Amino acid sequence: MTQNPQLLLLAGDGIGPEVMAETRRVIAWLGDHRGLVFDLEEDLVGGCAFDAEGHPAPSSMIAKALSADAVLLGAVGGPKWAGVDYAHRPEQGLLDLRKSLGLFANLRPAICFDALKEASSLKPELVSGLDILIVRELIGGIYFGEPAGIEDLGNGQRRGVNTQVYTTPEIHRVARVAFDLTGKRKGRLTSVDKANVMVSGLLWREEVQKIGDAEYPDIQLDHMYADNCAMQLVRSPKQFDVIVTDNLFGDLLSDEAAMLTGSLGMLPSASIGAKDESGKAHALYEPVHGSAPDIAGQGKANPIAMILSFVMALRYSFNREVEADLIDQAVRNVLGQGLRTADIVLQGETPLSTAAMGDAILSEMESLNV
Ligand code: NAD
Repeated sequence: MTQNPQLLLLAGDGIGPEVMAETRRVIAWLGDHRGLVFDLEEDLVGGCAFDAEGHPAPSSMIAKALSADAVLLGAVGGPKWAGVDYAHRPEQGLLDLRKSLGLFANLRPAICFDALKEASSLKPELVSGLDILIVRELIGGIYFGEPAGIEDLGNGQRRGVNTQVYTTPEIHRVARVAFDLTGKRKGRLTSVDKANVMVSGLLWREEVQKIGDAEYPDIQLDHMYADNCAMQLVRSPKQFDVIVTDNLFGDLLSDEAAMLTGSLGMLPSASIGAKDESGKAHALYEPVHGSAPDIAGQGKANPIAMILSFVMALRYSFNREVEADLIDQAVRNVLGQGLRTADIVLQGETPLSTAAMGDAILSEMESLNV
């Protein structure tokens, strides 16, 4: 008998439990209607874990995350823990979790739902149908390179240093994730660097090309300078399919691309680690938004980013494209009917509560499941 896929649910703080509750209903529906049954575990992370166990990422939770096939996380943090020392802050718990799972590739889709194209800062025709995936290297590059620090020069002046550094294995592993994902999409990969002015960028470009030539001859690989990419994203974003880039450029470009699509409450993300001998990779799926303390507990949160994070898990950890497409379509239909939570509501319309949005998505899934 094959084992059910194992999913660890970490609802976290603030609106985390509210948006996770709607996602749980979607997961349960798949068990009831599509025969896709998950073995679910739950645990605490962030502020709630600190309150209960004195640490935002308790080792028992990390152990569960390491043995699960995928982890689904709500959000962490909030003003309640503002006075806690940095090592025990909720956000530190999330960093600990990412580090323990060795998550080196961050996947940020920028999808524009047709019904929301007016919410973009760009002209609707530029973003209508937009579907980009940005793959950002997450645990290397200038944010981690040594030396780093501020030095007192002793003459009243100071010097600040950060070091951009990449090794070939670091480039190869994130490049392979990007090539694999591109193979599941439209087959066009753009690698982004500053090879014109940075030798680390030249290495990046040469090594990505090497992996492409040797292992992915069917993928169309292009290279682009990061400054040009930033311009192209606002000039003509639909030219891109998948973008792979380093930690720093990925940080900037993924936020830029996200804003092409409207609200924070709509944006999912995934972080992926190395594959083991069986081909399984650790993976964490979470909305881009935070714990939204300003609306927590009020039933106002948009659960779509969380539900779409689960959709990413279906695609990238569980290879269940049919179910992923079904939920995706249900979300599109609901938005197309003008049903919105407060963050994306149309002027003059009444916003749906978090649970009512869950109801609407489930009812659309029901209709689509013929
Ligand atoms: P935030 O994303 O929580 O909220 C920003 C604004 O967007 C708020 O007005 C909020 O109400 C709104 N918003 C966010 N998600 C929404 C949703 N699903 N539906 C409707 N509205 C939504 O960012 P912030 O206020 O800067 O941070 C709040 C806390 O979250 C902080 O403690 C921060 O450190 C933490 N945070 C956690 C993560 C994470 O867990 N991955 C990410 C970012 C911020």
